[in-house]
Amino acid sequence: MRQMIICVVLFLLSGCMEEKVKNVDVNMINEDSDSIGTIKMSQQPEGVKLDIDLKGLPPGEHAIHIHDKGTCEPPTFQSAGEHFNPEGKEHGLLHPEGAHAGDLPNLIVKEDGTVEVQLMAPNVNLSEEKNGLFTKNGTSIVIHEGKDDGMSQPAGNAGKRIACGVIKKR
Ligand code: ZN
Repeated sequence: MRQMIICVVLFLLSGCMEEKVKNVDVNMINEDSDSIGTIKMSQQPEGVKLDIDLKGLPPGEHAIHIHDKGTCEPPTFQSAGEHFNPEGKEHGLLHPEGAHAGDLPNLIVKEDGTVEVQLMAPNVNLSEEKNGLFTKNGTSIVIHEGKDDGMSQPAGNAGKRIACGVIKKR
């Protein structure tokens, strides 16, 4: 009997460990389908950390959002859907009734086209549960041509989509 209990406990433990995804690497592509680098997402107690290391982007400020479909079809990336917004809020980190869970601070790309920065997405998680990014339709990360003004609906007046990457379990 004791042996059986130990087996059941071990089985449950191993099951739990397999289920819990802690890290996801998102390969970002541009409008020509070329890879421009990786965004490493990792589950932290306070949300999901994005470790961004990209190149070949236009210098300046760009909007970056988590979108609600896991498909990146260049060159328009309209396939990525709208902002990930499971709580039905308004768009924008500066909006009083915001923000979308997928809203993020703008990226600042250097003159040489690279950006290396860490951002936090405090209202999402790497799971299939509430506000989890592993949804039926999947999710993605999209970078826009312009900056997000943090207020305009539905997407911060950030212009066209210039890069995209699918968020999926390894
Ligand atoms: Zn938004």
